[in-house]
Amino acid sequence: MVKERARILVVGGGYVGMYTALRLQRKLKGEIRRGEVGITVVTPNPYMTYQPFLPEAAAGSISPRHVVVPLRRVLDRCDVISGEVTSIDHAVRTAAFTTLASVEENKAAELLGYDELVLAPGSVSRTLPIPGLAEHGIGFRTVEEAIGLRNHVIEQMDIASSTRDPAIRDAALTFVFVGGGFAGVEALAELEDMARYTARYYHNVQPEDMKWILVEAADRILPEVGQEMGRYTITQLRRRNIQVLLSTRLESCAGRVAVLSDGQRFPTRTVVWTAGVKPHPLLAATDLPRTGRGRLKCTAQLTVDGAEHAWSAGDAAAVPDVTAAEPGTETAPNAQHAVRQARVLGDNIAHVLHGEPLETYAHAYAGSVASLGWHKGVAQIHGRKLKGYPAWFMHRVYHLSRMPTSNRKARVLAEWTLAGLFRREIVSLGSLEHPRAEFEFAAGGKPPHSPSDDPEGS
Ligand SMILES: Cc1cc2nc3c(=O)[nH]c(=O)nc-3n(C[C@H](O)[C@H](O)[C@H](O)COP(=O)(O)OP(=O)(O)OC[C@H]3O[C@@H](n4cnc5c(N)ncnc54)[C@H](O)[C@@H]3O)c2cc1C
Repeated sequence: MVKERARILVVGGGYVGMYTALRLQRKLKGEIRRGEVGITVVTPNPYMTYQPFLPEAAAGSISPRHVVVPLRRVLDRCDVISGEVTSIDHAVRTAAFTTLASVEENKAAELLGYDELVLAPGSVSRTLPIPGLAEHGIGFRTVEEAIGLRNHVIEQMDIASSTRDPAIRDAALTFVFVGGGFAGVEALAELEDMARYTARYYHNVQPEDMKWILVEAADRILPEVGQEMGRYTITQLRRRNIQVLLSTRLESCAGRVAVLSDGQRFPTRTVVWTAGVKPHPLLAATDLPRTGRGRLKCTAQLTVDGAEHAWSAGDAAAVPDVTAAEPGTETAPNAQHAVRQARVLGDNIAHVLHGEPLETYAHAYAGSVASLGWHKGVAQIHGRKLKGYPAWFMHRVYHLSRMPTSNRKARVLAEWTLAGLFRREIVSLGSLEHPRAEFEFAAGGKPPHSPSDDPEGS
């Protein structure tokens, strides 16, 4: 039985934040009802994004609304605040945060006290000071970016179809992806597949006119599926006329020309950056201990090492992998660990409140599945290797089973079924990004697609 009112603050509404809060509201149902425990979740967006489905959302196989889970609906016994934690003073158990309202009201950050802290802001893209990257690079971590990229690719096909200038056409039909991990390979493979299909509806754009390029600094791609399956993936992508450039780096994309370390230059309007992640910068604005790589130093019980009442898991946390043969190994930043860690983390907070011993997080990596387009995939699960259709099918079954809430599962399944019956969706809603442009023009403003929007004519 809980002795006094405990205020639990969960920072982040992603895998760890949402699953921990879900677990807590189930485990501490009675305490919450009696007012002995309060759970507050602070996160910028009021939804959790199921990131493994972003490539399929970009390809148009799943609607954007169905790859996100509304936090206010699933966390109905928690207080959800749409805001951003800016710093944490754990010594005095206080977090500073801003909301859209505080920005609007020109107010400084507000303070929130807590007794137990779950710090799970995840990671951010690891970028490098490459000329032109900040101006022209496109990320692939959010649902907005995935849909923006889909619209952008189809828009490039429209530009190529309507121009007489071969240089503009060539740049529009060149798509460069940097980073051969999950996000980069799946996003490229799904979008190339979608663009190849879409080309059949253009009288003057053929699939062979498009250049799809994957740039990877290491000498292999998709390390998560093992060496053999990584090599298989390269062969499959090359068969599709996709250039896979290993041991190669992007050196510049200034002036909309991708310059590579092997000397090749590709004029392009599309440089997608998926070259890894780094811990969220919020971690540096706390008084909690971090490793040399910037993740929070955690124990296998998911407490922050040496800091009482602070917990973490997922991409933000350096959690010892107790199943690894080599001491000092940390669990990898992926969804497989994040979801399982969240369950143990939630249980452990409940154990602390009930005066019970803590559980240790132990999970041996089971392998991975990746989709490479319609009916194409690659997987390695518990040492079993799968290729082509069986891997693609396994990818769908696995992720559908992992998708949070039966409501979302049913919606995704319905969409896949409909996509199997009807033709693929090929429309680009580029104007979604500037919904007021048409009205502004009608009201006397500049015309939509005015060249002055972008000095370099994107
Ligand atoms: C395109 C893509 C595909 C992927 N595919 C796979 C896959 O197939 N398999 C796999 O295992 N893994 C995959 N991953 C990795 C997986 O999604 C991550 O490992 C997982 O999301 C980590 O969970 P997390 O809770 O630590 O972070 P996240 O899920 O990123 O959650 C962090 C949360 O914190 C919030 N936040 C950020 N800053 C603040 C702040 N200042 N204050 C409050 N809240 C904040 C964010 O908005 C977000 O809600 C993929 C990732 C990407 C980008």
